[in-house]
Amino acid sequence: MDDKTTPIYQPVFLPWHAPVLENMLSLKQQQRLPHAILIDAKSDQDGIGFIWHFMMLMLCEKPHDLSPCGRCQPCRLMLSNSYPDIVYVTLLYDNKNKKMNKNIKIEQIRELIHELHLTRRYDNLKIAAIYPADKMSIEGSNSLLKTLEEPASHTLILLITHNRGKLPVTIRSRCQIWPLDHPARQTSMEWLQQQGMNEAAAEQYIDFSEGDPQLALKLQLGEYASLVNQFKHQFALYLKNEIDVSKLSSSLAPVEVSLVRRLIRRVVTAYCYQFVGLNAKGVVSGVVQKPAAQKVLLLASRLDRQLRVEESNLNLQIQLEDVLISLKQIIKFE
Ligand SMILES: [Zn+2]
Repeated sequence: MDDKTTPIYQPVFLPWHAPVLENMLSLKQQQRLPHAILIDAKSDQDGIGFIWHFMMLMLCEKPHDLSPCGRCQPCRLMLSNSYPDIVYVTLLYDNKNKKMNKNIKIEQIRELIHELHLTRRYDNLKIAAIYPADKMSIEGSNSLLKTLEEPASHTLILLITHNRGKLPVTIRSRCQIWPLDHPARQTSMEWLQQQGMNEAAAEQYIDFSEGDPQLALKLQLGEYASLVNQFKHQFALYLKNEIDVSKLSSSLAPVEVSLVRRLIRRVVTAYCYQFVGLNAKGVVSGVVQKPAAQKVLLLASRLDRQLRVEESNLNLQIQLEDVLISLKQIIKFE
């Protein structure tokens, strides 16, 4: 065979995926697998790699220690991304508009349902995976609903999301929900050190990533710690009226958007907390009675909310300048 198709998806296993995988294998063994599973993944770094491992392990003829054997026929077909009884639906790139589609379209879901009802090629489960499931269009979700209510036999629908709350209740209530959480701090520390981070950096980056070790690694590659320091410095200059708001926001222009959002949330929120006498976790560290405290806290929570909504990317600079100007107006008279 000369057909050397380059594999696109590869399985990824991380130690803290173990509980979910163990659960799956044990239910499979008892033939008690549900028809629909919603994986509620806390880390947005867990995506197709996790899904591929999950499905490959489920289909493997000789799994060992939560790893697929890699040699049986299902494993080989999964590794070459050519297993016939799998449908994977995700966001597609729109060639015409030259960008990713904002949602998973109804045509994709219809196609998936159609595939699920076709005869299986192998005597095993037929699996349909949807990621990120919260990006399904309303029409798409509605059309999936009927299949969730009346599942075809020998099928499993696997939904994966990082925003469970954004999925319609009707969908959530028809799935078994399996949480995939961040690991305990000690596990994160060990894993990051195995990836070559020293202990102090690992400590620091686990905090930056709010307990997500994969994100911690990504932030370190982006030299996030020095970005935080640079932005803190610029922010202090801004508060002292030494630079204006556009200079401050343009200092972030070369930085990747998701990092910028995280950076601002961290630095500005920390400043607001400190201003009203709270420590970084929002716990009272000293009694500070300032008339503007209430307003500053409201502003901090507005900023936090805005920056967590990824759809607001487009207006990031306007939002940031708006918040920074408001902040200065509030604290001016203290
Ligand atoms: Zn195998």
